Amino acid sequence: MTGSRLIVITGPSGVGKGTLLRSLLMRQSELHLSISATTRSPRPGEVEGKNYYFIDRQTFTEMVAAEELLEWAEFAGNCYGTPRGPVEELLASGKSVVLEIELEGARQVRKTFPEALQIFILPPSMEELEKRLRGRDQDSEAAISRRLQRAREEIAAASEFDVQIINDDLERALEEIEAVLLGDGL
Ligand code: ADP
Ligand code: 5GP
Repeated sequence: MTGSRLIVITGPSGVGKGTLLRSLLMRQSELHLSISATTRSPRPGEVEGKNYYFIDRQTFTEMVAAEELLEWAEFAGNCYGTPRGPVEELLASGKSVVLEIELEGARQVRKTFPEALQIFILPPSMEELEKRLRGRDQDSEAAISRRLQRAREEIAAASEFDVQIINDDLERALEEIEAVLLGDGL
């Protein structure tokens, strides 16, 4: 892959975005993942600066006011945002950057970076999505139902995106994403 590109990956919580991205980043070493800031508490095993920058609401509000976030949104009771500096630096140095963000954030990026490639990951079915959310075993029952409710709204917006990929078989979905990136000249 060659060239610098901003890539946005969106899809309902539990669809497998993180799993797909971990493999994609291992296979495509020239891709860089943006690390988001969030007010959510770390899940077991999550590492500060690797999975997220875990910050409090006041710090988040200050970052928004100082325009330090490229985009941000509230999701299932917590705030999430993309720190602007690292993304702009990577793009300026000719690297490609992936943002793994929810729908509202992706819509903001569509306005500020219309040239970004926007990919939406779909589950094979709502039943399978619920199974994956529960199988991950890291969210409370209340958090799971908030995420499932939001998933229906997000899936309804899938056609706004440049590309839709169904994450049924993981390897096949990965190959489809790679084909899109290669076809896009990355
Ligand atoms: P997201 O980042 O979209 O919230 P995760 O990557 O955490 O989702 O995946 C949610 C759960 O679904 C995890 O337990 C993961 O192992 C599982 N999973 C991901 N992709 C697949 C797939 N293609 N088939 C079956 N299970 C999957
Ligand atoms: P989770 O709590 O499961 O890690 O993430 C919840 C949702 O927030 C996911 O849909 C994820 O893609 C999204 N998200 C993570 N980081 C960001 C971000 O920086 N901005 C926005 N808008 N959404 C994010």
